[in-house]
Amino acid sequence: CGIVGYIGHRDAYPVVLKGLQRLEYRGYDSAGIALFDEGELKLCKTKGKVSDLKEKMESTVDTSGHVGLGHTRWATHGEPNDLNSHPHYSNSGDLVIIHNGIIENYDSLKKELKTRGYTFKSETDTEVLVNLIEDVIRKEDVKLGKAVQIALNQTVGAYAIAVFDKKKPDEIVVARLGSPLAIGIGEDEFFVASDASPFIEFTNNAIYLEDGEMAVVRRNKQVKIRKIKDDSLVDPYVHELQM
Ligand code: GLU
Repeated sequence: CGIVGYIGHRDAYPVVLKGLQRLEYRGYDSAGIALFDEGELKLCKTKGKVSDLKEKMESTVDTSGHVGLGHTRWATHGEPNDLNSHPHYSNSGDLVIIHNGIIENYDSLKKELKTRGYTFKSETDTEVLVNLIEDVIRKEDVKLGKAVQIALNQTVGAYAIAVFDKKKPDEIVVARLGSPLAIGIGEDEFFVASDASPFIEFTNNAIYLEDGEMAVVRRNKQVKIRKIKDDSLVDPYVHELQM
């Protein structure tokens, strides 16, 4: 299982696809990519290999766009099939998420969301999390980063996540607890991934999130890192990677 994300000036698709290939060693049963272009989110996912995803994607989706999120899944909740593969959308279709790990209390969260009218297409714990984030945005009228933080503080489990809101196309929000997450810092471009291998050819500056940290990665801005629990700011330590 692995995650890759890109926001910047390049075409996101080749970066994300190659990144997923580099993460194949981590093992997986399904793969998927979401791309954002001109106000529209485009999604393709499939059970099987990254090469199967490539074939399906290139024959069904226009692969343009400068924001992308990619995932390889090691199924924990819901069998490996196309529907349970990531990325997952929220009910409004605005939010898209990729997640490695397990949300242990997803069942009770799902029941509560259902009473408020939310519906679910997959059997995953991940689709519960993305709708929980959407519910927080609706109820509390907060920004994406804050909503992710509030939602994560209601979860029990482990995760590396990346979340994108098509209404806020300049940022990706990432968080980590128990699964690795690295942020690659380029010139006016950012990469997020399970390790540095997807972006080492583009930049040698990387921040590794620690457990319990989250970051808002925003175009043309410094990466802001906070503790998920108490919202305190963390000074980012930028590693120099050896190429
Ligand atoms: N728990 C999630 C799922 O089953 C993510 C699994 C993973 O880490 O790939 O879809």
